[in-house]
Amino acid sequence: MPDNTGTSNEKFRDTLKQFQLINRIITALSSTTDVQDIYSIILCALVSKRGLGFARSILFTYDPRFDTFTGNSALGPTTPEEARAFTSEMEKEEQALSEVLKNHSVSPQTDKTDAWDYCESGLRVSTLWISMAQKVGEQNLLGTAVKQLSYSCRPNIPGENFLHLACESRGPKIFDISEQPDIPLGLRKVLDTRFITIPRCSKSRKYAGVLVDRRFSPQPITADDLRHLEWFANQASLAVENALLYNDLQGAYQDLKGLDTLKSSFLSTVSHELRTPLTSILGFVELLLAGKAGKIPTNQQNLLSRMAKSTIHLIDRVNDIIEVAEIQAEGITDVQVEPVNPLPILMSAIKRIEERKGCKTVSIEPELRKDTPPILSEGHSLERIFYHILDNAVKFSRIPGRVTIKCGSDTGGRELRVAIADEGIGIPPAHLRRIFEEFYQVDNNLNRSYNGLGLGLTITRLLLKATGGKILAESTPGKGSVFTIVYPIAEGAPSVGG
Ligand code: ADP
Repeated sequence: MPDNTGTSNEKFRDTLKQFQLINRIITALSSTTDVQDIYSIILCALVSKRGLGFARSILFTYDPRFDTFTGNSALGPTTPEEARAFTSEMEKEEQALSEVLKNHSVSPQTDKTDAWDYCESGLRVSTLWISMAQKVGEQNLLGTAVKQLSYSCRPNIPGENFLHLACESRGPKIFDISEQPDIPLGLRKVLDTRFITIPRCSKSRKYAGVLVDRRFSPQPITADDLRHLEWFANQASLAVENALLYNDLQGAYQDLKGLDTLKSSFLSTVSHELRTPLTSILGFVELLLAGKAGKIPTNQQNLLSRMAKSTIHLIDRVNDIIEVAEIQAEGITDVQVEPVNPLPILMSAIKRIEERKGCKTVSIEPELRKDTPPILSEGHSLERIFYHILDNAVKFSRIPGRVTIKCGSDTGGRELRVAIADEGIGIPPAHLRRIFEEFYQVDNNLNRSYNGLGLGLTITRLLLKATGGKILAESTPGKGSVFTIVYPIAEGAPSVGG
């Protein structure tokens, strides 16, 4: 019977080697989300002896604006002397990293196992590639070995078309330089007689192509190289694709942030422009109503009162916009959190709402205990918060309706909870999560029946955040909502009863 043990052992070793290689490459590629760093790691892994062992790798990136591939990085020697220096520099660097890893290991001297050897060598090699990638451009041999090239490959230009054609192919391909007339002259001088192209065209875009050769090396290019490059290219393209997506996302996020700032400053400018004339209109209407310009007949007084009400409403909306824009631009910096008695503040907010709600028959019924303790908050912000929540409770109530307010502490007596409940239209669960977002409204039709800009709860959220409070929102569509404002009780204060 023929003895197959030798061959199967060899096969096993080969598979293990490949597995180690894949592992190193994945480790190195997943160490960064920077596209340039990934390109450098690709170049390093392709030429490293513990990687794919080519002599040189040249990377071309695609610029869609000019439909051009530009070779902007190449790693590897250009003369036999450089080849020797390059190899020894790589080995030196790897040795140095090996020392570092040994000094930081758990206890490799005593517990040294095959598994340890395996992990350590993998780590060492991928660390070498990462560290080489970071040295690109530095003034040392490894740094300057990654050269900046500038070969342009434009499509349909004789003598330059090569990379475009190569990138159209499905996978890595071996080429003989003599059979390729469309390779740019500069590149032709650098490349070995045989080389491989690794095209990487994602479904959405083509972004890079790599050329590798084995110049100054006795080992020829073989079909095995193609097999290894196939999965290498898959891993590399995945890493590049992810990094590009990450960059796109970052870019889109910055664009959105820019737009948001623009919108805030636009709204703030327009609102400031509106506030001054509106305030003087209100001033003049109030003068007329007070009879300062002569006696006004009753029917005209009614009309003037309505004018004043609408102007106040407009000024309020404009103030909301300015407040949100200013908080977003500068944050809330001048609040002084201190012990405050919430009851008079709440009563003042109720009074303001009752003055505004006019003929709407919604009663506000506070059930408050006199021994409610002081809380840690800020008076002016707290009044704004109560005002916005009460305003909504009244606005979204049915007519006739009822809004109740209850105060109580949590079981530990550490927090005071002020619950403002209405019996109004309620909020569907899918919207409840979003009502604190800027301009968000459950009903955002232009012909909706409730007025408002969708800023009251945004202001509430920002003020609560600045003053150390919280808010809880519960709601049942068709039955009503409860908004509970929570603040810490000021230390040393008597506990709340009930
Ligand atoms: P505005 O009330 O000006 O529209 P807010 O930011 O105060 O803006 O509220 C956002 C949205 O949340 C409202 O448009 C409304 O859809 C919903 N909402 C807030 N409070 C209540 C409530 N008590 N009952 C029903 N819906 C409410």
